Amino acid sequence: MASSPHLIEVALPLPLRQTFTYAAHAPIAPGHRVVVPVRHRRVVGICVGSSDGAALGEAAPKAVLAVPDAEPALPADLLATCRWIADYHVVALGLVCRAALPVALGQAGNPAPRGRTERVLVLERTLPTLQARDTAFRRAPQQRLAYELLESLGGQASVAHLMRQLGCSSAVIDGLVTKGFARVESAAVFRDPFAAREAAGSSATSRGAALRPTGPQQQVIDAILAGAPGSAFLLHGITGSGKTLVYLEVLEQVVRREGRSAIVLVPEIALTPQTVERFRARFGDLVAVLHSGLSDGERLDAWRALRRGEKRIAVGARSAIFAPLPDLGAILVDEEHEASYKQAEAPRYHAREVALIRAREAGARCVLGSATPSLESWHNAQEGRLHLLSLPARVGGGALPAVQVVDLRQELRVSPPDVRARRQVLSASLEAAIRDRLAREEQTILLLNRRGYAPFVQCAEGHVAVCPHCSISLAYHRVPERLVCHYCQHQEPAGRACADCGGAMERQRGLGTQQVERVLAERFPSARIARMDADTTSGKWAHAEILARVGRGEVDLLLGTQMIAKGLDFPNVTLVGVIDADVGIHLPDFRASERSFQLLSQVAGRAGRGPKGGAVVIQTRTPGHHAVRHAATHDYLAFVAEELAQRTSPPYPPTLRLANLIVSGLDEVGVATFAGTVARWCVEADARFGLDVSVLGPAPCPVDRIKARWRWHVILKSEKVGPLTRLLRGLADGLEVPAAGGLRLAIDRDPVALL
Ligand code: ADP
Ligand code: ZN
Repeated sequence: MASSPHLIEVALPLPLRQTFTYAAHAPIAPGHRVVVPVRHRRVVGICVGSSDGAALGEAAPKAVLAVPDAEPALPADLLATCRWIADYHVVALGLVCRAALPVALGQAGNPAPRGRTERVLVLERTLPTLQARDTAFRRAPQQRLAYELLESLGGQASVAHLMRQLGCSSAVIDGLVTKGFARVESAAVFRDPFAAREAAGSSATSRGAALRPTGPQQQVIDAILAGAPGSAFLLHGITGSGKTLVYLEVLEQVVRREGRSAIVLVPEIALTPQTVERFRARFGDLVAVLHSGLSDGERLDAWRALRRGEKRIAVGARSAIFAPLPDLGAILVDEEHEASYKQAEAPRYHAREVALIRAREAGARCVLGSATPSLESWHNAQEGRLHLLSLPARVGGGALPAVQVVDLRQELRVSPPDVRARRQVLSASLEAAIRDRLAREEQTILLLNRRGYAPFVQCAEGHVAVCPHCSISLAYHRVPERLVCHYCQHQEPAGRACADCGGAMERQRGLGTQQVERVLAERFPSARIARMDADTTSGKWAHAEILARVGRGEVDLLLGTQMIAKGLDFPNVTLVGVIDADVGIHLPDFRASERSFQLLSQVAGRAGRGPKGGAVVIQTRTPGHHAVRHAATHDYLAFVAEELAQRTSPPYPPTLRLANLIVSGLDEVGVATFAGTVARWCVEADARFGLDVSVLGPAPCPVDRIKARWRWHVILKSEKVGPLTRLLRGLADGLEVPAAGGLRLAIDRDPVALL
């Protein structure tokens, strides 16, 4: 070691909030990766600054083993953003930095090899109607199951996965191949669909380039571009108001004319292929699409291209906010209200909030866009922290679709007994409206935000089958037939006897997408139906496949969970039906109404986006609920006014700040006891420092057991940010979590749900 070493502070990817001092031969700039010894291992940490050595005391510093990169992995604005996350969410800075980097850069060795290959069954010929299936598989029920599962998986699935799911032999798969319904391929042919497609570059014929902004769009674009560095906007534009073109024009200025770089966040890449394609069509090779289907190696390649400035627009979900772009000029957050922007594990950041922080650090403009802004953003706009911009009308003056609300209670009262069961799924109005669209060869989107066939099963005594690991009822699934826990994916055979009385679990209660699909197939036997939910989209590109079929007009009825509500822009969709608006509305969570309103508004916005116009039918048993009423009149402002009033007593965000302290563990008593300790600690600290934070609980979480772990929580409410931060830091540093029973304490600040 040189006679006067340079001491640096290193953040390590360990759950310890302090940094560590190491010695280096030469100065190292903050943001550099460094390989350092930790006990007897080589660990990749991040240099976060120089050190005066005070933390060392008498001990001699250990030496940095290697500095792998020529440039800091984290540019200055990104490192500052990571610091903010670590401070605000009370997590180790090293863990935040690790989350901000591709997995391959967190490992001391070489990047992981690229993906393996496997045998994949691909659908060759589809049988879109019930009648055609009955004929084709009359004597081959096993093949029919395999065919239907393959189709429901988006048309591609690994052979091993299919055989495992169905418990069938390879003869069944071979049968499908011989009959010409499917072929077998090697998985290596399935490449990244965004990379495979020719980049359209600056081609003037591409859709985005051909459009000229309307007057209102131009005003919004001008306002954003006139904003000072670091300024932030809330773009409230109704569905179909042309927000995407606003984003494209902002990028045109920032990336092409100013030569800077930009990040575009979308809730989920797989669900928004149309939006992503518009960015690629306009900016071609400048765009890197960061999606969950990338292998570690591909992700590293994309990261390097962004870091070097070869790609200057990063499009991706939540974690794309950490794209290492130099000279960031704009951050655009589409559908900013989406809960998927919040990370469910530590660091529990919200990408929208990180976008605002990073834009400020980088001197970039930040735009949060939505037809139904989160109450947080709306509140921030009212308080002047965001500049509010509005697009209150659809492009070209198209009207928002008329909404009919059907009261299912009334519907069932007037229906003759023989049709009552069906009317729960399809009211007379919705059935007639669908029939009408089928006759006119127009398309329909149907929403039911619950997968499976039925959400629970009962025996004759009324006992319900529950998951052995979670306090949640098991959902009944029909293809393949089994009971499934939607929290932990536990599965068991459907035929089991009741655990309480030994009776048969014969009654299927409630409604899921598989059941709706069956009713649709019975009522409209010649209709081409596609179902899109978590069960049908486990294949890598299943979403894109299903949506492409809808786009090509090969689907008459698209049925799905919330994943069909986002961003879809199909002009031939003239009807949207909501099978049951009440799913989710009564969850014991303060955001249940807001979520329901957003979902109903978003899905209604899929109708009538073309010249033929459109209509929406919402079925509900609570037509008076404000989420339903205001979604029916497309009245965001009225909803916000009523919802904000409800959140004042008892008080909830956005007017105050929340933290959810979740204690979990394997032993119920141990969890309850430690939750009590946490609550007492908070009450005492609050009194000692005069913080004015209210402490609620401890209480069992609404879902009090998940994956065999019991869950209790303590809720903290505070009008001010600072005192809450102080309390949380004190808790993280000052209260030791007992080692027994796998106890854990999770701090979820600004939680999106309290379940
Ligand atoms: P939003 O995201 O606000 O719901 P989109 O950006 O999807 O709306 O735009 C809705 C439709 O209007 C799209 O089909 C888009 O191509 C079209 N559109 C947007 N701006 C214009 C424009 N200036 N001129 C013509 N069509 C436009
Ligand atoms: Zn479970």
